[in-house]
Amino acid sequence: MKNTRCCVCNAPRATICSACKSAYYCGAECQRNDWRSHKLLCKDFATFVKASPRPCPTAMIALYLPILPYGQKGLAAPKMVWIDPEHEMHIVERKPDDTLEYIDPLKHDPIEAEFTQPRNMSTPVNARGFEINGNYFKKFKLMYPVVLHLRDAFNFDGSRPNLTLVEVTREQLRMQWKGPLVVYSKDSFHSSACQDITLTDFRTFLDFCKKYEASDGGLSDSLRLNNYLELELTNPGLFNSLLFHNSVNQTIRGVDITCEGDRHFLATEQFLSVDVPVVHPIFDDVNNDNGYIAGFGATEVSRMIQVPLLVRRLFPDKVWNNSTFHFFLRYQNWYSNSVAQYLNLNTDITSTEWGCRDPGYNRGQIYSRVLVVREDNLAITARQVEAVAAFFKHVFETLDRQKLVQLGGLSGPPLHAARGNLMGANVSRARFVQFFTNFRNQKVQGGDTTWANEVLP
Ligand SMILES: [Zn+2]
Ligand SMILES: [Zn+2]
Repeated sequence: MKNTRCCVCNAPRATICSACKSAYYCGAECQRNDWRSHKLLCKDFATFVKASPRPCPTAMIALYLPILPYGQKGLAAPKMVWIDPEHEMHIVERKPDDTLEYIDPLKHDPIEAEFTQPRNMSTPVNARGFEINGNYFKKFKLMYPVVLHLRDAFNFDGSRPNLTLVEVTREQLRMQWKGPLVVYSKDSFHSSACQDITLTDFRTFLDFCKKYEASDGGLSDSLRLNNYLELELTNPGLFNSLLFHNSVNQTIRGVDITCEGDRHFLATEQFLSVDVPVVHPIFDDVNNDNGYIAGFGATEVSRMIQVPLLVRRLFPDKVWNNSTFHFFLRYQNWYSNSVAQYLNLNTDITSTEWGCRDPGYNRGQIYSRVLVVREDNLAITARQVEAVAAFFKHVFETLDRQKLVQLGGLSGPPLHAARGNLMGANVSRARFVQFFTNFRNQKVQGGDTTWANEVLP
């Protein structure tokens, strides 16, 4: 069945795109509205069949979305493939020796295999067909179904989020689709026969993604629960715009502590006030052993002065941390952020790491920028964070010196008791209040009048 209505507004008697001959438009305005997604595939649709002819009579054109976009440069786009409905929707290709090769796209995502924590392979992959019957976004019934072919247990089997779809739909995506996806078209509602997918069907699919939302909190929950680490690493700009979009403008005032590289290459201040979206993973971080995240709730030392701080390492800024410079950067101190490390001193008096910066906080090689918010969701200012960090730097230096002078020769419980006494004497709300007042007075006396009205956090 052929759909010659406008792919954007469903108006009848539309004109075909002369390049791809795969989508219809009622006029220039609708064509313009569709261009951002249409341009991802218009050229491919114009050349695909000529470049790779139909491998067998039952094969149909479909769109394949692997979990990560192909290549990291340019625009992410689905890939055109031949699938065979007579062969369990496997991708089919004709090889140079004239044999047919079948690949199950749901089982063999080549990129997924590269992850250190791939999908739980003991869970069998069964396919599920998710039929789109109407355009719920623009409210009209379709002439034939467009089908989303995906893993039956994608939500429970450890499949990774489909970042190709995230990139293609950008901030308009409403739920987390995981694992590889294939989109194809049926011929009608009344039979199981399939037909080549068109760019009109692609538009239908994108409109569906804008509207469809699962009942479980959808994308906002997934962002908060740290399911999008790969996106944060590969495309931090898009990650941030998703956070803001899914927070419905609800933000909490936090602070970025920039690293040496940020200050050198971007000329930023050391403490920057930032609006943190309420779905930011910093509010729900758990220790996931990837070496990038603090994630143990508010740090112990910050609780001891009753300013409970969540602290999270951010990835280095792409502007200066790119592959060209990477070799050079590794031997510099650009990732260093010692001030932020003081916010997470080790308070375990029985540990050999006592008083040092918490090793759990500094796993892995990359350090860089650090985000700070209050666990109780109150706002915190750049100056307040500066004062807290300065306090713990002072504490760290004091403890370290006293540790050497006073604790020599002690071991076991007497050592632990001595450490406990030192902590008690140096880290408390009262000590911090005293330090903050002095710190503020010094700043004001040093000529920084903006400190005069700063209040105790
Ligand atoms: Zn139209
Ligand atoms: Zn076109």
